[in-house]
Amino acid sequence: MDFSQALLNKVDVIVDEWIKAVLEDDQIETARELTYKGIRDSLPILLQAMATMLSESEDSDITTLVQKSLEHGTLRAQQGYDAEEIAREYRLIRWVIFAVLEEELLKGTPAEVMRASRLINTALDEIVARCFKSYTQERLQELEDLQNQLKLTNQELTRLVRASKDNMSQLAHELKTPLTSIIGYSDMFLRQQRQQQEVKDSTRNLESIERVLRSGRQLLHLINDALEISRFDAGKMNLHPVPTDVCGLINGVLEVVEPLARAKNLELTLRCSSAVETVVTDPLRLQQVITNLVSNAIRYTEKGAIQLQYALHSPDQWGISVSDTGIGIPSEAQARIFDPYYQVAAGDRTLLADSTGLGLAIVFRLVKLMQGKIELVSEVGVGSTFTVILPLEVKEIEENPLKQSAI
Ligand code: ADP
Repeated sequence: MDFSQALLNKVDVIVDEWIKAVLEDDQIETARELTYKGIRDSLPILLQAMATMLSESEDSDITTLVQKSLEHGTLRAQQGYDAEEIAREYRLIRWVIFAVLEEELLKGTPAEVMRASRLINTALDEIVARCFKSYTQERLQELEDLQNQLKLTNQELTRLVRASKDNMSQLAHELKTPLTSIIGYSDMFLRQQRQQQEVKDSTRNLESIERVLRSGRQLLHLINDALEISRFDAGKMNLHPVPTDVCGLINGVLEVVEPLARAKNLELTLRCSSAVETVVTDPLRLQQVITNLVSNAIRYTEKGAIQLQYALHSPDQWGISVSDTGIGIPSEAQARIFDPYYQVAAGDRTLLADSTGLGLAIVFRLVKLMQGKIELVSEVGVGSTFTVILPLEVKEIEENPLKQSAI
């Protein structure tokens, strides 16, 4: 009985069934944000290498198996998987392989079946071990990079706090405790790591590394947002206007946030206008504004739809609106929504873990820098619409207008 050929014939079925099982597993959350190709990764090649192992006539392709497993671990680390999710993926692949090959296996003699299952299990154990090894190494590398980044940003922050007293000192106060703990813990990990030849890839170790990384990334996000605000307020931001294809730029943003909307079953639509095709603006800044507004719309909406549309507003202005059917913003909060660090904490709303209250403050400043304005219409329980109105042609400025009139 040639199980090797049976496995080769069914590679596509196994991959499809496995991806379906991974997406249906509610404990592999990270996969829901990936494309089919992103999840599939090198599984077909691994299955082919496994088929060679099963073949009695060909030399087993252990090199491919090892190399692809290492690549898989690195990729999963970069995609943000935690160790538990990887373990579940492998549990599912084992299950799917045996389920799909069941018909063929039942036709073999007991000795043939024993040999095939022993080889499949050995190959899978090898893959899991290699994958975890490279996963841990990637995580440790990330930790080391993050620590270096945090040290640098901390230096910049300290310098800024000395220069400006208000928001920065409030922020510095909030940052002190978590920053010290992250730097301390990651230092300890990395020092232990350097003393050991072998990477310690126990689940507890991995969990602790992940916890440090998660808080580190969150903190870095907060620091970077705060620094962005101070750079604006210090007048250190310039514009680089160029002719920009509006529809292309917005579609680019939507592609990035689409998995977030899909994960919450939210419809995401864009209505393009032929009256506005190319505008002269700073594409990076515009992208930042739209990304912020759409991400907020997704974050604060549990069901319904997010709609983007843009059109000509006046002969020399265009407007883009982002509407959601989310929780809405109480009228008393609307006046303060663009203030730095302001977060709506009314009624039963819970503050999201990754909230900084800086996103809209940055959007407000960016829109002003682009010589435009932002308007908000919102009703609690119904939804919100943020509309940004911008000139069709942004003028290049040397001096940031916010410098003279801080908000
Ligand atoms: P963050 O979301 O990080 O807290 P933002 O400055 O982006 O910071 O938003 C400030 C506050 O405005 C948020 O805490 C949230 O309560 C509210 N908010 C922003 N966008 C929306 C939205 N589309 N729907 C409802 N509330 C929103």
